[in-house]
Amino acid sequence: MSQFDLHSHSTCSDGLLKPRELIARAAQRGVATLALTDHDDVSGLAEARAAAAQQGIALINGVEISVTWNSHTLHVVGLHVDPENDELATGLRQIRSGRRRRAEAMASSLEQAGIAGSLEGARAHAGNPELVGRTHFARFLVEHGHARDLQSVFRKYLTGDKPGHVPHQWASLEQAVGWIRVSGGMPVLAHPGRYKLDNTQREALLTQFKDLGGAGVEVVTGSHTAQQFTSWGRYARHYGLLASVGSDFHGPGESYRDLGELPALPAGCVPVWEQW
Ligand code: AMP
Ligand code: MN
Ligand code: MN
Ligand code: MN
Repeated sequence: MSQFDLHSHSTCSDGLLKPRELIARAAQRGVATLALTDHDDVSGLAEARAAAAQQGIALINGVEISVTWNSHTLHVVGLHVDPENDELATGLRQIRSGRRRRAEAMASSLEQAGIAGSLEGARAHAGNPELVGRTHFARFLVEHGHARDLQSVFRKYLTGDKPGHVPHQWASLEQAVGWIRVSGGMPVLAHPGRYKLDNTQREALLTQFKDLGGAGVEVVTGSHTAQQFTSWGRYARHYGLLASVGSDFHGPGESYRDLGELPALPAGCVPVWEQW
């Protein structure tokens, strides 16, 4: 168990729990410091803050920004952002309006594969009408028997050349890091082990991320294997990046790791919280 969990989702993006329910679960599980990092949205932070004060949890204002970098989709977490910052708010609003168009295109693609009504179906699973994403389509597809569970739905749909997947241009890496920085936050590259990068691409990404103002990488995350904890601990040290820890919890039964269910950082990593 870790007292820090610096990556989590609520119904304001694709999580299953309302911000206050997420905070209650974190408190119950012994998490002392939680970052709420909804995709491309900060609207859950006010409710989370009020609940955190009641439950005696330190809440970190966070966000997880969707990025397109050299045709790879990456996620950059911002920790300690100011949700009121205009540049951040405007940037996130742009991404959300792109999401609306993407959701329509995803629904057309599924329609062509013989699956009707997915836009309405996905919206019914979304707690935030501005934030309809693949998880909401995935829940709709499971609900209608097109796949067994959330993991298998992403093998048959919503990825690669499968029905429901549409290429999308997110923010640039420079924009995401810039918005996080200008709002006072610390940019952290999320679940880096998930990206399909060769050694040259990984080197280029970490160098560029650092040059643009990136501060840390997730080393211990629900998306990494034990081997990746070690290898990403080494990359963090090699590139002089701080190390972060986060479950990426989306909801009971939907996530590999529960809130705080995380091992310690490998020896030699400098944790992000040392710079707070
Ligand atoms: P989006 O930002 O709308 O493209 O959706 C990305 C989200 O889909 C991620 O944050 C995960 O919550 C979910 N997701 C992506 N791939 C998978 C997968 N293989 N299994 C379960 N959830 C996934
Ligand atoms: Mn998600
Ligand atoms: Mn992510
Ligand atoms: Mn996430």
